[in-house]
Amino acid sequence: MKVFIKGLNTCPQRNQKLQQYLAFLRGNGHQIVEAPEAGDVILVWTCGFRADVRDNTLRQLTAYGEHYPGRVVATGCLPRIAPGALAASFDGEIFAWTDDARVLEQKFGTGGLSLAEAEQIYTKPALCADATQFRRDHPEHDVIFHDQFLQVMVAEGCPFHCTYCSERLAFPDFRSFPEAALVAATVARMRETGQKEVILIADCLGEYGRETGSSLVSLVRRLAAEEPEVRVSFSNFHPQHFIEDLDGYLALIRDGRIRHLNLPIQSASDRILRLMARSYTRAALTEAFDRLNQLGFTAFDTHVIVGFPGETDAEFEDTMAFLLRHRPKHVLLSWFMDCEDAPAARLPNPVPAAVMARRSEDAEARLRAAGILCNNEGGEIIQERLRRLNRVGTP
Ligand code: SF4
Repeated sequence: MKVFIKGLNTCPQRNQKLQQYLAFLRGNGHQIVEAPEAGDVILVWTCGFRADVRDNTLRQLTAYGEHYPGRVVATGCLPRIAPGALAASFDGEIFAWTDDARVLEQKFGTGGLSLAEAEQIYTKPALCADATQFRRDHPEHDVIFHDQFLQVMVAEGCPFHCTYCSERLAFPDFRSFPEAALVAATVARMRETGQKEVILIADCLGEYGRETGSSLVSLVRRLAAEEPEVRVSFSNFHPQHFIEDLDGYLALIRDGRIRHLNLPIQSASDRILRLMARSYTRAALTEAFDRLNQLGFTAFDTHVIVGFPGETDAEFEDTMAFLLRHRPKHVLLSWFMDCEDAPAARLPNPVPAAVMARRSEDAEARLRAAGILCNNEGGEIIQERLRRLNRVGTP
C-alpha cells in the first residue's frame, strides 16, 4: 500500500512516534509517499494541546477528508482529547494513539513486523545553530527551538494528574527508554555529527528513570562521562522535579552541563496551583528560581495558563509578579482550554474569553517591556508556526 503520513503534532516528542510508524510500514512492505494525492491511505497525526492548535487540526482534517474521501485515517492525540469535536468534524476512520499497535498491525502488519519491533531510540541531529535566523532565511521550513540541538527522546507519557491537561488523556503509561541504549545512541550521534549541544525531550522529562532506578541527573552525568563537551537542554521539565533535586540540578548548572531549561510553572498562585493539582507551592518555586537567579543562570523559559477557572485578576497578578521577579528568557502564555474530559472542565467560575484576552495582551505587553520574549495564544508566532506546519501536503 502507498501511505502518506501527515504530522500535525506541534511537539517534537511525537516525531519519535511518526518515525516508528514509518519504520513499521516500510518493514511490512508498504511504500511511503511524499504527497497525499499519491497515497492509498493518508494517516494524519492529530494534535490538541491548546484550543487554537486543536481547531487548526480539526480544520486540516476536515479538508483532508473532503479532498480524499475514504482514504484518510486520523490518529494521535485528539481521539482522546476531543472525541466529540473530532467526530463532528471528520467522518473517516479514527483510532487513538493508545490503540495504535492493535489497529496498525491489523491494517498494515502483513509482513509480520510488530509496531514494538519497529521502535528505535529516537535521535535527530540539529538542523541549525540559531532557529530564529534559520526561520528568517528559510521561511517555508517548519523549524522550531529544538532544531538548534541534537534531539534525544528519553521517555513518553506523564504520571502526574494536572486537572487542566489535555495531553495526558492521550498518553500511554509513562515509560523511560533504557539508559544504556540512550547513552549509546546519543554518543554515536554526537560522534557522527560533531554536535555536542543536546536537548532531551519527553512528555515529563524529570520523571526519567524513576521506574528503572535511574534519574535525569544520572543520565546527564553518564553522557558527560562519555563525551566531556556535551551540554544539555531540558524540555517539559516539571518544576516539582527541579525542586525535589535542586542541589543535583544546580550542580549540573555549575559544572556547565546545562544550556537551557524549560520549566513550565503554569501559575504562581497557591490557590490556582492547588486547583491545577500542581504539586508545588509558590514558596518552593520562589526558592528554586531564586537559586537559579543567584547562579546567574538566565537560559530558562516557562509556560503560564491564563484564565484557569476561578482565577482572579489578583491571582494572575501573583503570577506576573513572579515572572517579572525571576525573568525567564521566554514565556509561553496559553489560555485555559476547556477540554471535554479533563477534570478542570467541571470547575465552577469559568473565566470569560474576553478576560483571558485582556490578561494575556496586558501580560505580553508588560513582559516585552521588561525584555522578556513572549508567545501569546492566537499571536503571530503561533499563527505562523501553524501555517508552516500545515503547508506540507496541504490539500
Ligand atoms: S497534543 Fe501534545 S503530545 Fe499530542 S501531538 Fe499535540 S503537543 Fe504533542
